[in-house]
This record gives sequence, C-alpha cells and structure tokens, in this order.
Amino acid sequence: MPDVKIRRELLDTLFALGKSQHPNEFLAILKFKNGVIEELELAPGTISGRSSASFDTFMMPLDTNTAGSAHSHPSGAVRPSEADLRFFPKTGKYHIIVGAPYNDDTWKAFMANGEQISIEVV
Ligand SMILES: [Zn+2]
Repeated sequence: MPDVKIRRELLDTLFALGKSQHPNEFLAILKFKNGVIEELELAPGTISGRSSASFDTFMMPLDTNTAGSAHSHPSGAVRPSEADLRFFPKTGKYHIIVGAPYNDDTWKAFMANGEQISIEVV
C-alpha cells in the first residue's frame, strides 16, 4: 500500500468543486508539493456534461509534480467507470473520485489500475 498524503484544505476544495458543478462533473489534475498532494489545476474545458467522454480526449502537460487526477461522480457511485480506467494511466498514479453529496464519507482513492487505496488526510 503506497504512503500517500493529501492536504485537508485540498480535499475540502474538491468537495466544494463537486457541489458547485453538480449535477455536472469536474475534472482536476492533482499536484504534489513537498511529497503531499496539495494543489490542483482545473482541466480547461472539461467541466461539461454527465458523460465522461471528454476524459478520453483530455490532454494537459504533465510534469514530475503531477500526482494524478480528481473528478466527481454526481451519481454518488464512487468507483471508477470504464472510461476512468482508460483515463487514469495517462494522468499519473493516484486518482480521487468524489461522489455526491461530496463529503468525507463519499470519496475514495485509486491507483491507475483501479485498485482502491487509502490516502492519509493531513
Ligand atoms: Zn468517473
């Protein structure tokens, strides 16, 4: 099990984004800062409909600080879709899904292969 940490403030930002975009999805790239997932970049043009189709064509320059991705599931089902599993390996190692109603009980983290992991909130 990898030792991965995320800042409390960033997690709260992800919940707020989920709420503000509901019932649409948001997609963000997560960045490491000093070994902790602490920053995000919103993917331009990917705040769109309920479909994950836009993820297939999503492109953003990734650098060594890229931790992975975060996106929302307005349906509340917090597990990767088939589209997510195609998308994850292109976007880093660690991937967070926040489901409606977007709180501490409705998010999970996954490896690029879809295996669920626990991320420590710091
Ligand atoms: Zn998804």
